Amino acid sequence: MNTEIIKIDPENIDPQALDKACEYIKRGELVAFPTETVYGLGGDAFDPNASRSIYAAKGRPSDNPLIVHIAEISDIYDIGKNIPKTAEILAEAFWPGPMTLIVEKSTSVPYETTGGLDTVAIRLPSHPIAREFIKRSERFIAAPSANTSGRPSPTMASHVIEDLSGRIPCIIDGGRVEIGLESTIIDLTESIPTILRPGAISLKDVAAVTKDARMDPGIGEENPSVRPKAPGMRYRHYAPKGELTIVEGDRDKVIERIIEECQTRTKTGSTSAVIACSESAKEYRDCLVFDIGAKMREEEIAHNLYDTLRKLDEEGIEYIFSESFDSPDMGVAVMNRLLKAAGHRVLRV
Ligand code: AMP
Ligand code: MG
Repeated sequence: MNTEIIKIDPENIDPQALDKACEYIKRGELVAFPTETVYGLGGDAFDPNASRSIYAAKGRPSDNPLIVHIAEISDIYDIGKNIPKTAEILAEAFWPGPMTLIVEKSTSVPYETTGGLDTVAIRLPSHPIAREFIKRSERFIAAPSANTSGRPSPTMASHVIEDLSGRIPCIIDGGRVEIGLESTIIDLTESIPTILRPGAISLKDVAAVTKDARMDPGIGEENPSVRPKAPGMRYRHYAPKGELTIVEGDRDKVIERIIEECQTRTKTGSTSAVIACSESAKEYRDCLVFDIGAKMREEEIAHNLYDTLRKLDEEGIEYIFSESFDSPDMGVAVMNRLLKAAGHRVLRV
């Protein structure tokens, strides 16, 4: 399949160029497009065949539901039913933006889109291209991240090209995305709003508007016997090809230990690299270091995480050692993704 790449400037959207992409959607075909979180792989949410094509292109397990992207808050009434008041409150507070709400699905949404569930995930993105694209397609757009299943989510068009070129007919290249981590998913079908996947909107942010809110007990490390509620959080995800280990503890000890680990790998003829924050990147003397951004500005680390994981793959690095980037807000989401990428391999020093 030939993949058409349509370049669009998010600050000066060419409606004719965008309409070319919308034509694919109207024909039931797929288009990868930028959102403020990551690139999405979109198709008509009400067309079961479009959803099937999304699963096929990504190699995604068909029980892992898609997120339905909308252009106006009022669209939630077409996608969901028995919408709780909390949905309206959260939508007013955080949409357009990096938040996905889970509600009961309406009969218009096919089970192909929801992975067989009676609930549906809905998001109103803020990215200008995403919003215009949904509007001009005159459809609701079902879209998971536009990566091959199991690879880091794409934060720029080149990542999408790497994974899906030849497998989908069209990619909108709208430059690098802003946030770089997937949306916060909030389940509103439980008695308390429950975060199924942490993202740029934190538990504190949610609790500030809903009073009650909690994290899905299934996504913590504390109790591995509790399954995460979001099907997608159960799969090993975001995995680099090399073996990734997170090294935690006192800063100096972490640096010392990582240097030692890299030296050992070099002696045995293996390649290794370090993921470090800007503040300590220079301290890893002879190691190959990937500076992931300043710890002081946690959103920088989120922005660079997936691109860094992909670069490590490109370099064919066999062993990767990463600092830990825990912090109260964005750090929760960053560490959630990093721990999954590491298959929860953590070394405490
Ligand atoms: P992605 O867009 O690739 O980040 O994938 C969408 C995420 O939303 C996956 O982790 C899904 O498991 C999750 N999701 C979508 N719909 C639902 C739903 N109805 N209930 C729970 N999780 C959902
Ligand atoms: Mg994904």
